[in-house]
Amino acid sequence: MKPAATDGAAGRPVERRVNCPHCRGQAVYGPSNPWRPFCSERCRNGDLGDWASERFRLPAEAPPDGQLPPEAQ
Ligand SMILES: [Zn+2]
Repeated sequence: MKPAATDGAAGRPVERRVNCPHCRGQAVYGPSNPWRPFCSERCRNGDLGDWASERFRLPAEAPPDGQLPPEAQ
């Protein structure tokens, strides 16, 4: 069985690093980072907040009355 990727010296798995989607900084993508792929809890919360605000910013214009079919006659 081939060993998993290690850093050689310590024999520990190499921690992948990704760019934090929020601040574009370096974020550890591994078990040591519970907020992956974000670099911190703050970035994770901030990104979710941005997404939420974007998602719920849908146009909330009600259609004019004339376009609604008559419901009961
Ligand atoms: Zn970040």
